[in-house]
Amino acid sequence: MTSSAWDDAVTLLREHDEVALACHVNPDGDALGSMLALGIALRDMGKQVVASWGSEPFEIPAAYEGLPGLDLLVPASQFPASPALLVTFDTGSVDRLGALADRVAAAEHVLVIDHHTTNTCFGTVNVIDRGAAATAAVVVELLDLMHRPLTAEIAAPVYTGLVTDTGSFKYAATTPSVHLLAARLLETGIPHDEISRQIWDTASFGYVKLLGLVCARAVLEADEVGGLGLVWTAIGADDLDRYALALSDVEGVIDVVRMAREAEVAVVLKTDPEDGLLKVSTRSKGAVDVGAVCASLGGGGHRFAAGFTSDAPLSETMDCLRRALAETPHLAT
Ligand code: AMP
Ligand code: MN
Ligand code: MN
Repeated sequence: MTSSAWDDAVTLLREHDEVALACHVNPDGDALGSMLALGIALRDMGKQVVASWGSEPFEIPAAYEGLPGLDLLVPASQFPASPALLVTFDTGSVDRLGALADRVAAAEHVLVIDHHTTNTCFGTVNVIDRGAAATAAVVVELLDLMHRPLTAEIAAPVYTGLVTDTGSFKYAATTPSVHLLAARLLETGIPHDEISRQIWDTASFGYVKLLGLVCARAVLEADEVGGLGLVWTAIGADDLDRYALALSDVEGVIDVVRMAREAEVAVVLKTDPEDGLLKVSTRSKGAVDVGAVCASLGGGGHRFAAGFTSDAPLSETMDCLRRALAETPHLAT
């Protein structure tokens, strides 16, 4: 990426009084956090801002209900049809915008802000830092370039994105600059302990029950992934219904399944109650590039955390995935 992309992004944001923000479907902490952070900053600059995502249900995931800037959100049905400036967050490709994907062609300018290695650069201006731990960190770089202050209101959603995508500062993406950024965010006085508790340590009793159920049905296949091992489980729409859970409530299941040391790769297949499609989450421990594997199956993500969507039945989807994992080269670790 050229430095002029950053300059072009600053110019676009300065010159537009109305800005439409969109993040990827079924938003996680980084998608929502990075979008709200820039949205609040733009509103502080006196601009008209709307923000949304293109999947149902249009409900704030429980962990993010306390974030500032939620009043910027509008349902996809109220999102401008042809915005002068569309800004996308944490979105590696146009299809990840779901119902808002058509706004990319309809907008006059599209600014893509992201950190996915698989990003397709679908914007008219692309600010993509593939080394960044979170899109939220890229937003702070932009705000610094614009000489905008990092207020506590902005810092809270940024921290949400950073803590989500680094797994609470545990993943390899946690560089010294991540901790320096975290220090800046904490200096604004944000309730970081409460933010983390909501993300990692708070769930309904139904979730605890579901966790037991899906962990009990997990399968270990030691010979898969070229002998490195595969562990996987599935969450059906009926499971979600039984325990009154949304898809966004079960994002953390993969973090439990991937604990199994016998397996290099962990997989959770979730049936989306809205469209009936399988949302497949994959994680590896460093010896396999699951981002490349998922990209080959029509999805994307990062090297060690990636996903794809499948319209095939579960057993067929697992067969495809096993085949792709068996063929993928083992990285030097
Ligand atoms: P998840 O397993 O949903 O937590 O996603 C892990 C990573 O893979 C995130 O960076 C997602 O943005 C990305 N990802 C998940 N599903 C898809 C998909 N269908 N297409 C592209 N990227 C995806
Ligand atoms: Mn994301
Ligand atoms: Mn991200």
